[in-house]
Amino acid sequence: MESFAQDLTIMKRKPLRDSHVAAIREVATEREYQKGEFVVQVGDRMDRFIYILEGGIELVDSYTNEAYLPHFLGPTQFVGEMAFLYGGTYTVPMRANAYTRVLEVPRKDMLDLMARIPELSDHIIDVYNARRRRQLEESDSSLIIIGADEDKNLRKIAAFASRSHIPFRSLELGSPEAKIAGASCDICGGVPALIFGRDRVIEQPTPRKVAKLLGLDLQVDNQNVFDVLVVGGGPAGVAAGVYAGAEGLSAIVIDELAIGGQAGTSSRIENYLGFPTGISGADLLWRGEVQAMKFGTQFAMPRSVKSLNRHEDGYFIAQIDDDSNICARSIIIATGVQYRRLPLERLSEFEGAGVYYAATEAEAKFCADSEVIIIGGGNSAGQAAMHLCRTAKHVHLFVRGKSLATSMSEYLSSRLKAEPAVTIHFQTQVKALHGDDALREVTFHNGENEETKTICCGGLFVMVGAAPNTSWLPDNVQLDDKGFVLTGAAVEKNTSFETSVDGIYAVGDVRAGSVKRVASAVGEGSVVISHIWQYVNNNKP
Ligand SMILES: Cc1cc2nc3c(=O)[nH]c(=O)nc-3n(C[C@H](O)[C@H](O)[C@H](O)COP(=O)(O)OP(=O)(O)OC[C@H]3O[C@@H](n4cnc5c(N)ncnc54)[C@H](O)[C@@H]3O)c2cc1C
Repeated sequence: MESFAQDLTIMKRKPLRDSHVAAIREVATEREYQKGEFVVQVGDRMDRFIYILEGGIELVDSYTNEAYLPHFLGPTQFVGEMAFLYGGTYTVPMRANAYTRVLEVPRKDMLDLMARIPELSDHIIDVYNARRRRQLEESDSSLIIIGADEDKNLRKIAAFASRSHIPFRSLELGSPEAKIAGASCDICGGVPALIFGRDRVIEQPTPRKVAKLLGLDLQVDNQNVFDVLVVGGGPAGVAAGVYAGAEGLSAIVIDELAIGGQAGTSSRIENYLGFPTGISGADLLWRGEVQAMKFGTQFAMPRSVKSLNRHEDGYFIAQIDDDSNICARSIIIATGVQYRRLPLERLSEFEGAGVYYAATEAEAKFCADSEVIIIGGGNSAGQAAMHLCRTAKHVHLFVRGKSLATSMSEYLSSRLKAEPAVTIHFQTQVKALHGDDALREVTFHNGENEETKTICCGGLFVMVGAAPNTSWLPDNVQLDDKGFVLTGAAVEKNTSFETSVDGIYAVGDVRAGSVKRVASAVGEGSVVISHIWQYVNNNKP
């Protein structure tokens, strides 16, 4: 299966071209660091590009203050990783391990330079992306989660971080590593905690707080009017972000959970053009996000639009969940759909603590070696079963109907039938959930043999059809009877993605009549930009 970046350990090391170094030198300042001097600390913004001329810079373990060997950068190499593109923060400290001379360029000037010299940009992005991959593979980060298995909030953070490709270390409660990490901030390592850097405990942690610490949150002021605000960071929204940036429109994509949307929860997409061995949805969407950022599109998460108004000057004001605003000349609705919840008692109590709506690596870890139940007969339920059966003790797929013939692709249902670690239970419905601080058992009824049973369950995955995310839209955006956004001829507009309101467009799964697939969402998100471009240019202030 394809990954989102090259493997740094086998990647051939290529220095920047002399002409690129000369271009960097033109906008850079030369600076010296003495041996042992810190170049960056955890939490510092990636506000400058650092190219090493002489000496060396080593990565440092926040807790022991020792160098992480063999991670060392020498002459002709440059500091940083993917967070440089979005102005994020360092999660690992770095210090000079000898007298060191560098060229430093303010981030904005470096991004301008990269936009002017695509080969330089490609080189830097390849290295940054490979470094991010290594950080993720080695859990090389000063963001530490202690006891995610025991704490619902920390599980949410672990899920947010893994979906967003944020490196973190997950430590077991009471483990020797947890004790070392806890000791430096006066906690015992025996209580669930989120730590950033050497001694910063994040009280009442939320994904928003993590995003803020890492620079993934909203970084706009109210005076800024974007050409386009893309609401929703699934395949449709990210594609719109790529094309908007490439066409020179100023764009921002926001998502209430994490970039990736439904596709981000798919462990393996096999039918997307160009990936014959498949790619995980999160990796595919990360590639898109990086591509969009390269063109200057901004991203913010987890942020949702609560309401949308129009300013008297014609632009839109989107009210964001914490009462901040984003102003934009046009809006793309790309908010997709979300799984329906089930009318079960105690469901909300166990959501995030045994009940899940996505089956990514994070959720797979939480229910490794336990019995897992998936409810649903569609492709997403099938994919989740194939993914989870690799790590779970056994997977039970509960299907309401008598067969999978009409609801699941043939290739997937035959794989499931051949998989000994999966049992398909037809005409089966969950009746009750049991547990204490997490889900422990599930009672279900099988209509085939009229049996009611209770089994141990480490994870219940609810994948039972989806409803559109349109409750935030103003009343004048017309919807069909199921809540999907009407566009094009249905609202007497000339182009396919225009809604009933001028300047507001809809793409992807949220649009009435769309094909619910990654490729079609990407196609719609790409095509809509030409209409937006025209609209923005025709309505220039
Ligand atoms: C498990 C699974 C496996 C799948 N496998 C495949 C496959 O193999 N091949 C295939 O072609 N298709 C597959 N699909 C379908 C495919 O993922 C969807 O068709 C596609 O993701 C739709 O893209 P979208 O951008 O329109 O919407 P979505 O992917 O639904 O993204 C919408 C985004 O909007 C965000 N959002 C919602 N409301 C707000 C708000 N108010 N403010 C801000 N953000 C908001 C959501 O958090 C979400 O991230 C799969 C779906 C699932 C769930």
